Amino acid sequence: MLRENLALVEEKIQAACNRALRNREDVTLIAVSKTKPVSMIQEVINLGITHFGENKVQELCEKTEEIKESLNWHLIGHLQRNKVKYIIDKACLIHSVDSLRLAVAIQEEALKKNVIVPILIEVNIAKEDTKFGVAEEEVQELVLEISKLSNVRIKGLMTIAPFVENPEENRVYFRKLRQLLVDIKSKNIDNVDMKVLSMGMTNDYEVAIEEGATMVRVGTGIFGERNYTI
Ligand SMILES: *Cc1c(COP(=O)(O)O)cnc(C)c1O
Repeated sequence: MLRENLALVEEKIQAACNRALRNREDVTLIAVSKTKPVSMIQEVINLGITHFGENKVQELCEKTEEIKESLNWHLIGHLQRNKVKYIIDKACLIHSVDSLRLAVAIQEEALKKNVIVPILIEVNIAKEDTKFGVAEEEVQELVLEISKLSNVRIKGLMTIAPFVENPEENRVYFRKLRQLLVDIKSKNIDNVDMKVLSMGMTNDYEVAIEEGATMVRVGTGIFGERNYTI
C-alpha cells in the first residue's frame, strides 16, 4: 500500500510541477508520520523518503531515538516554550514559530548548545480563529524582531490552509503567502533567508505547488487515514 500511495503522490507532484513549469527538485516532499508506527516509517525510508514531519515534540523525540538512519525531521506542530530544549538538536526545521517569545526561547537553547536553528514563521493566512499562526499584517514586524536573534535563522513561511472540500478554494491563500514571502524577501533583512514556502497537505498540495510551495506536508496521502483512538 505504501509503495502505491507514494507513487501516486510522486506522480501528482510531478504533474503539478509540469503545469507550473517548475523543477521537481525545487519541491521537497515531507512525509507526515504523526501517529504512525516506526515500522511504516521504515518502509517509507526504504522507498527513498528522507524528510519526515511530526507535530508533537515527544513523538518526534521517540521516533528519532528509535530510527537510526540519518533523516531530516521537521517539527510542523505547535511548539511550547518549555519543550524547545528537547527538540532543538533533533529537528532540521521548526515550521511553527508564531511569536517572539517562542523565538527567544529557541535562541536561548541554541546559544547553550552552540547551534544555529532554522525556522519558518507560521502564518494564519485565512484568519481562522482555531488556528495558530501570526496574522499576515504582523509577519514583517515579527521577522524584523527575530532577525536580531543571532542563533535563529528564518528560512521562510508556513501555513495550514483551511479544511475545504475543493482545494481550489485554498489557491487564494497560497498565492497570498507566496506574495508575502516575496514582499519580505525584497526588504533584504540581515540574517533572514526567505526561500522556503511550506504549504499544502494531502487535500491541496497540488494547488500549493502550482502557487509556489517549496515544501509540501503529506500525511494521509502516503500513510492512509490516521486513527487517533489507538
Ligand atoms: C497532520 C498535518 C499535516 C498532514 O495532513 P494530511 O492531511 O494527512 O496530509 C500537514 N501539516 C501539519 C501541520 C499537520 O499537522
